[in-house]
Amino acid sequence: MEPGQPGDRGPGPSIAWLSVPDGEVVRDEATLAFAAQDFGHLVHRRPAAVVRPVSLADLTAVMTFAGEHGLPVSARGAGHSPFGQEQAEGGIVLDMRTMPTVREVDGETAVVDAGAHWREVLDLTLPHGLTPPVLTDYLELTVGGTLVVGGIGGAAHHHGTQTDNVLELEVVTGTGEVVTCGPGSDLFDAVRGGLGLCGVITKARLRLVPAPPTARRWKLYYRSLDTFLADQRTVVRDGRFDYLEGQLLLDEGEWTYLLEAVTYSTASLDDLRFERMEVEDSTYFDFLNRMAEGEAALRAEGSWFHPHPWLNVFLPDEVVGRVVADTLATTRREDLGGTGLVMLYPVRASALNTPLLRVPAGELVWLFSLLRTGKPADPIENARLTTLNIRLYQQAKALGGTVYPSNSLPMTPADWADQFGPVWDALTTARHLHDPHTLFGSGNSLRPPPP
Ligand SMILES: Cc1cc2nc3c(=O)[nH]c(=O)nc-3n(C[C@H](O)[C@H](O)[C@H](O)COP(=O)(O)OP(=O)(O)OC[C@H]3O[C@@H](n4cnc5c(N)ncnc54)[C@H](O)[C@@H]3O)c2cc1C
Repeated sequence: MEPGQPGDRGPGPSIAWLSVPDGEVVRDEATLAFAAQDFGHLVHRRPAAVVRPVSLADLTAVMTFAGEHGLPVSARGAGHSPFGQEQAEGGIVLDMRTMPTVREVDGETAVVDAGAHWREVLDLTLPHGLTPPVLTDYLELTVGGTLVVGGIGGAAHHHGTQTDNVLELEVVTGTGEVVTCGPGSDLFDAVRGGLGLCGVITKARLRLVPAPPTARRWKLYYRSLDTFLADQRTVVRDGRFDYLEGQLLLDEGEWTYLLEAVTYSTASLDDLRFERMEVEDSTYFDFLNRMAEGEAALRAEGSWFHPHPWLNVFLPDEVVGRVVADTLATTRREDLGGTGLVMLYPVRASALNTPLLRVPAGELVWLFSLLRTGKPADPIENARLTTLNIRLYQQAKALGGTVYPSNSLPMTPADWADQFGPVWDALTTARHLHDPHTLFGSGNSLRPPPP
């Protein structure tokens, strides 16, 4: 009997026996190398196979096979993770972009396949005059990829994260069962923000709101960190802007602070203490798609393809000034890389209602992001930047901070237990129930590697 023939189980697991009823199992070198890459370019874990599923039966077949053979499974959306989160060493990567598209607007909701990019969701909803209430800054991320981490953006202070605006999910669990779940279900709460530990999302029903036609975007510049933070607190509390973010800009050794505020109607700036401002009007879609031009430029100059040792932490309001000032005082241009960015913006914690999205206690929480660009072919420098992430993570954690879980940061199971805190036990219980063979979690170091 040849390997690959039904019935040939031989000694030990062999990926050659994997087959799916409708889609494709791919094992050529180029495809495996592609699945061992991501936006981070820091971690490269080669799978044994990539499956291009086209049906739920394909996913069930993969779960059954992987369970029998003790192989890790990871879903891959757009592959924009920073640290191998969508990779599966020696296991099976599911390319969720090959699942058939399901894209329908139904009243004030949309049903979409999990492999849809958020830009494709907008292509569907905007002709109906509707939009998801919260979008990430970059639209070429998949619905499944952001729903397992949260999905945060400048509208989160009003509407929460993308996980707060999903009404129903279709999930294929680690047992191969296809489950439709919604509010009140343990699986729904274990999948939203749950790092993909209980199953693969195949479809999502999303809440929509009326889409505004235009957006007015202000860039308000500050020289004082304290004044910038005070104005951000004022505007996040009174909710005068529809969208609120912020950047910390380093120019020739000096930091300036940029409050980015957008309104879809009108808003007053009279009481704000910025030093100068810029204003720009655009269509709503052009505002949402504002990263497209920057992406094209970074692709053209090459740094889009460089390593990205990124760190996103949530800080409590009481310590944000201190942690940010300390971090900026010790951050030089080479610690960010030529095209690296620092972002900082507050969110009202009361808007965040996803049980697994862990944020510090208090009325306001701050997303602090060091979006560093590393150097290709310089593992020592990239390890140095990752070490800076570890230090800031430890400092933030000691002061009550948490992570936004899309980071270039080695985390142990004990770190994850600290991160999830009071909901760790519920997540672990759900995981045992829905993924009894521990297929998922290898990309976040929450599964032992295969033998
Ligand atoms: C340029 C850029 C800008 C970004 N901006 C933002 C932002 O503004 N806000 C924000 O919140 N995040 C942002 N992110 C981070 C991003 O949301 C996360 O890294 C996200 O997980 C990536 O989605 P993806 O589709 O690329 O998924 P992948 O990188 O392919 O996968 C990410 C994780 O999701 C899992 N996964 C993927 N699909 C599924 C599925 N269908 N079912 C179950 N699990 C699945 C993977 O196994 C993996 O663990 C940004 C990232 C980049 C590169």
